[in-house]
Amino acid sequence: MITKKMLLYFPQCATESPIVYHLVKDYDLMINIFRARVTPDEEGFLLLDVSGSEENILKGSDYLRSLKIQINETVKGVSWDRDKCVQCGSCVPHCPTEALTMPDRTIMELKFNSNECVECLSCIKVCPFGALSSIF
Ligand code: SF4
Ligand code: SF4
Repeated sequence: MITKKMLLYFPQCATESPIVYHLVKDYDLMINIFRARVTPDEEGFLLLDVSGSEENILKGSDYLRSLKIQINETVKGVSWDRDKCVQCGSCVPHCPTEALTMPDRTIMELKFNSNECVECLSCIKVCPFGALSSIF
């Protein structure tokens, strides 16, 4: 069994589809939803972990694409703008997964490991400079 984190983008025509139901029932996948959002234009974003056999994840991905849902396995909902960041470190203690760290306090350099981010959005609320943002 493998687990993949996926950011799904739904065009307006696909937001009504019961995709999680079909991924579980038809492809024997386990789904852990981190974040979901529908914009005022009724486009949708869904960030989830998908667990199952590689073959079933591929089949499930094909099913999603057949609905014109775009799958992004690399881009995360949270992004860090290095240019806006002043390396104050305020966000670090609020990150529950150590996606944000400052390994060397003598040089005060923030590191963002997006693979560890679970989209809790805590950091966004505490950054005084708007360096962290999210599509959610
Ligand atoms: S959203 Fe949460 S998990 Fe991700 S970097 Fe910010 S505080 Fe850490
Ligand atoms: S709180 Fe904002 S400005 Fe401070 S280190 Fe974190 S991202 Fe950078």
